Amino acid sequence: MTTKSAAAAARPTVYGYPRQGGNRELKKAVEGYWKGRVTADALRATAAELRRANWRRLAEAGVHDVPTGDFSYYDHVLDTTVMVGAVPARHREAVAADALDGYFAMARGTQDTAPLEMTKWFDTNYHYLVPELGPDTVFAADSSRQVEAVKEALALGLAPRPVLVGPVTYLLLAKPAPGAPADFEPLSLLDRLLPVYAEVLADLRAAGAGWAQLDEPALVQDRTAAELGAAERAYGRLGALEDRPRLLVASYFDRLGEALPVLAKAPVDGLALDFTGAAAANLDALAAVGGLPGKRLVAGVVDGRNIWVNDLEKSLATLGTLLGLADRVDVAASCSLLHVPLDTAAERDIDPQILRWLAFARQKTAEVVTLAKGLSRGTGTIAGELAANRAALASRASSPITHDPAVRARAAAVTSADARRSQPYGERAAAQRAHLGLPLLPTTTIGSFPQTAELRTARADLRAGRIGEAQYEERIKAEIGEVISFQEKTGLDVLVHGEAERNDMVQYFAERLTGYLATQHGWVQSYGTRYVRPPVLAGDISRPEPMTVRWTAYARSLTDRPVKGMLTGPVTMLAWSFVRDDQPLADTARQVALALRDEVGDLERAGTPVIQVDEPALRETLPLRSADRAGYLAWATEAFRLTTSGVRPDTQIHTHMCYAEFGDIVAAIDDLDADVISLEAARSHMQVARELAAHGYPREAGPGVYDIHSPRVPGVDEAAALLRKGLEAIPAERLWVNPDCGLKTRGWAETRASLENLVAAARTVRSELPAS
Ligand code: GLN
Ligand code: ZN
Repeated sequence: MTTKSAAAAARPTVYGYPRQGGNRELKKAVEGYWKGRVTADALRATAAELRRANWRRLAEAGVHDVPTGDFSYYDHVLDTTVMVGAVPARHREAVAADALDGYFAMARGTQDTAPLEMTKWFDTNYHYLVPELGPDTVFAADSSRQVEAVKEALALGLAPRPVLVGPVTYLLLAKPAPGAPADFEPLSLLDRLLPVYAEVLADLRAAGAGWAQLDEPALVQDRTAAELGAAERAYGRLGALEDRPRLLVASYFDRLGEALPVLAKAPVDGLALDFTGAAAANLDALAAVGGLPGKRLVAGVVDGRNIWVNDLEKSLATLGTLLGLADRVDVAASCSLLHVPLDTAAERDIDPQILRWLAFARQKTAEVVTLAKGLSRGTGTIAGELAANRAALASRASSPITHDPAVRARAAAVTSADARRSQPYGERAAAQRAHLGLPLLPTTTIGSFPQTAELRTARADLRAGRIGEAQYEERIKAEIGEVISFQEKTGLDVLVHGEAERNDMVQYFAERLTGYLATQHGWVQSYGTRYVRPPVLAGDISRPEPMTVRWTAYARSLTDRPVKGMLTGPVTMLAWSFVRDDQPLADTARQVALALRDEVGDLERAGTPVIQVDEPALRETLPLRSADRAGYLAWATEAFRLTTSGVRPDTQIHTHMCYAEFGDIVAAIDDLDADVISLEAARSHMQVARELAAHGYPREAGPGVYDIHSPRVPGVDEAAALLRKGLEAIPAERLWVNPDCGLKTRGWAETRASLENLVAAARTVRSELPAS
């Protein structure tokens, strides 16, 4: 490779690092503080030590331009809310009394004040706290947290680059505050917000920051001309400030599209772009706008959202092309490393052959450093790393784990007929009615019953070897027995076994499918102090043996009523795992679907008349750019249909979704061709029932009448009123009665009372129906 002048100074950097610490020290300290076992000073000391440890780790790896301000006690968007002084009125008193307690009150709520709403950070599994802004919002700068971090890094002899949520993204992520007009647009506050950013930037400059990074991931989404105009105005104004650090505007999670020319022209000093996956389109787009003359380009070539080793030679080729397009090209991960676990070295149970295919935050940092070195000093200086990388990639590509001929042959032979039920819905519905003999407004639940402390203890005991498989099995069977007898006694129509055996709806299946990998320490922040360990879709997927049939069959042996089989769908399995990057997602989805299809077949053969395949993640995995959505929905719905269409016409397929607005994917929901869908609806007063009706949804639906996110027991009248509302949209022949979601997070007492009321409400409303 030739070394052009721009490469001479290529430097490695990252935009953020996992916050939790090697042993989740942050979680322990924060939760300890909440319980009063850890003092505020001790919490602060732990946090400062974790920040220092991360910076030292980055510096030792060869990163000198370190991110600061990415650390957070809870959430970086909430930190931004504090930085701009946008504390909601209901929390102001608490924040004034004690900044730290007020901060946690905004995050978690108190006895009398609701927390900020939480929602997904773009299409990741991280959740942020939604800013609440209104026409009366008064911003005021508080740069203390950012300034403190800059000083801490300077004290270690490092070059701090404070990372801030950019003003446009901050406003676009906000929602109208309670009491604000519903059509209020937070972006209209831009001119009031910019002076606050100007003040913070001046403070950061004074503290010694040479650069500041403003993250604008919202600009990779489809944006209106007005929104792009706002971005132009924002960076025109901030760029024109005299008293400021140099500004790096960062984008990630996708391509910039029409926002690229806007930012390329802005009077800022650098842009950070994502060049992984679909965002690789940034490369041609950058050439098309004539590059970034006079600016620094930070190239995100190492995928910050996945856990696979980088293809270093491919990245070097990308970087080589970029050299001609900017004054200076630096190398980075595509986004903050917040979204990956810390260090593969902590994994002792993964076969070393496979472990070298994986890269967590620490390994990704090393990749970034290696790439920067190769770019500036020539590939000869990284020959050893390149050879090791080639060997790792070759081992992955040729492994029997990633290439199971039987799985591949089966996936290749799939025809469109395999993804279609043998009869159209109308005919199936009649057969199912005859088969099941259910009343109008049939009652059911979404699957899980309370996961009690005893169940969790039993699982822990099994893992620790304190009890054997047989004893564990007895515990689960006893629980199933109780769940069945409660449902019979209460008068539910379609029963479930209660999912007592499942730790988690994805992990349970991942542990039983070949090709899936579990990590021991692969924790990733989901929100606040909640961390998850997503399983890894590492190879070709197959199902060595039935996964759920035993439990469902046992439940069925205890009752004469229909028992519903319960599975997690292929799209959700992908959404809540780390996915393969060596084949299209559609191919992985199809393999998972075929494995699940066999489970569906076995459930049916075991006499299960109703089978539910949950897809709560269908909506949340929707691509950020609308141009990519049709392609996604095509393979996602096909995978669902492939899972479910091998059954007899009289076997009833249910699906379930929650957490989201479904309005914009009703057509895709229809395309799933499930016989019955249950949806979260109680809080929105059956909104989704009206959306389904407006679309002309022809199948059966159960909009939830019991909000399971709260311990509150809905009264009979309340559930009946919701049902009557549902009947305005969906006729009685097609309306089901069920809660919003599974009951695993609820206690038994409120579950019992709520389901008794739900059944009573169904009976009341049935009695009001005209006799046919
Ligand atoms: N069947 C699952 C349960 O009842 C569904 C969970 C979900 O939708 N998130 O727990
Ligand atoms: Zn749900």
